[in-house]
Amino acid sequence: MRVSQLLNPTLREVPAEAEVISHQLMVKAGLIRKAAAGVYTYLPLGWRILRKIEEIVREEMDAQGGQELLLPVIQPAELWKETGRWQVYGPEMFRLRDRHDREFCLGPTHEEMITDLVRNEVRSYKQLPLLLYQIQNKYRDERRPRFGLMRGREFIMKDLYSFDRDEEGLNVSYRKMYDAYRRIFSRCGLTFRAVEADAGAIGGSGGTHEFMVLAESGEAEVVYCQACDYAANVEKAECQPQASQDQPTTAALELMATPQQRSIEEVARFFQAPESRLIKSLLYQGDDQVFLVLIRGDREVNELKLNHALGGCTTLQLASPETVERTLGCEAGSVGPIGTPSGLKILADPEIALMPQAICGANRTGYHYRHVVPERDLPIAQTADIRQIEAGEACPACGAPLQAARGIEVGQVFNLGTKYSQALQATYLDEKGAENLIHMGCYGIGVSRTMAAAIEQNHDADGIIWPLPVAPYHCLIVPVNMKDSEVAGVAEKLYRELTALGVETVIDDRDERPGVKFKDADLVGYPLRITIGTKTLAQGQVELRNRKTGETDLTPLAELPQKVRRLIDEALAAFRE
Ligand code: ATP
Ligand code: MG
Repeated sequence: MRVSQLLNPTLREVPAEAEVISHQLMVKAGLIRKAAAGVYTYLPLGWRILRKIEEIVREEMDAQGGQELLLPVIQPAELWKETGRWQVYGPEMFRLRDRHDREFCLGPTHEEMITDLVRNEVRSYKQLPLLLYQIQNKYRDERRPRFGLMRGREFIMKDLYSFDRDEEGLNVSYRKMYDAYRRIFSRCGLTFRAVEADAGAIGGSGGTHEFMVLAESGEAEVVYCQACDYAANVEKAECQPQASQDQPTTAALELMATPQQRSIEEVARFFQAPESRLIKSLLYQGDDQVFLVLIRGDREVNELKLNHALGGCTTLQLASPETVERTLGCEAGSVGPIGTPSGLKILADPEIALMPQAICGANRTGYHYRHVVPERDLPIAQTADIRQIEAGEACPACGAPLQAARGIEVGQVFNLGTKYSQALQATYLDEKGAENLIHMGCYGIGVSRTMAAAIEQNHDADGIIWPLPVAPYHCLIVPVNMKDSEVAGVAEKLYRELTALGVETVIDDRDERPGVKFKDADLVGYPLRITIGTKTLAQGQVELRNRKTGETDLTPLAELPQKVRRLIDEALAAFRE
């Protein structure tokens, strides 16, 4: 490819709206252009990078026996109504009507479509297991499309669905995908963690893991252990209850007037007590029921975990001041677990029972109890781990201190169990002719988001540093002066030789100053740059520069093509290890 002909409009200015580095660099390097919020055109170099990522994904899916197919983007509403997700999906789903007023959506995901195919085409256990996948645009009308390709409304996803006879088979498929994902992201040159996660709207009873590329700009928070391999999204991470270091008390429960003291900070200051001595008592409204939730004053509630503990409410939020007043007869700042109406369900974090003494609201505005001994004084029927984990806490698996990091979710694998096969009646006949539900898994990779994540992890002040396997081209030849016929001639010859050796090569044959060419080369991030200048050429040498390390060396012209080929082969092999 010749830069003089390549549609690669590089910019010197950062687009004002681009908040994260990957978005800035993709626009500056001429890889993408915005069409609408969260909708982008991929320019030739950007598209090449995406196809490289797709190819890695494809190879690893095929290696596990995955079969590629292509499902429609436009999906009939009826299927989604069968699983109930037409309602559940909400405004994130792009919905449309045809000329006959029939309802459709643009596929945000394809569990319904693929399960429909399989229920119609698969009859016998002999056809299982089955791994089907596609690489295709997905459509989600995200509330906040942002960060360029990171959170688009049209984006490229690989989605594979596994179909097995039973749980055991599903576990095998899940493991295959989990391992394949590790290889894919390693081959893309990414530093990542596979973390335990919450199943969210896709649902399913079994486990799920997210693959997180570690980067400051990541929207997710993860914790991981360096001593063992425990890693989890903070939404999901389990906490080990810690006994607070407080003094025990033998004093009797005492009601205290605490006028105007409402927040945890105010009450702690009033009693000159550490916040860890307080019980935070929160009235939650879950669907049409209220619950009293207890957690130590210095802790935060994790509402996802809380919702699981409550058995899964469609809506869960803190109760309004009116509901608090009506239920407990006081302001929210004085709510507590003592003397609550019978029938009010109380759920406590396990740390509450470990508090040697405590202070809590008295369900009377402006009053609190002190010298509360939870074991002695509190009516706790149900406990569950409902708190938000923090960095430095003990790993739930081995007890070592946990590290916290931010992550970009580039992939997720789900054990769906029979959630969709049940809803859509996808069954098979076993050896005895009995009908059974198919066990399913689904496994997504954000291909376009992976491209953004690769930039978040691989860049410097000058531009992108593509890991070789996903670089748009391996190498760029820069003749410093196209008017020097010897320089131009050698560059053209090298270009032909490298191309003949299968090295993906671009020649910057523009009549531009070397400074301009070097700037663009660094911005776009070609892994290897070969500079051909008059002076070095007089000694029969050319300069080879590594974009990542910045190292340059002079190589005899005649040896260069083979040397480049060898360097690339070695580097590509290293990414596969
Ligand atoms: P998120 O929590 O980031 O919204 P998700 O969990 O809803 O993502 P999945 O349904 O698990 O996404 O989709 C599989 C993969 O598709 C994700 O791991 C992510 O890499 C990618 N993806 C999801 N939403 C987007 C988006 N709006 N733009 C780009 N990629 C996305
Ligand atoms: Mg996900």
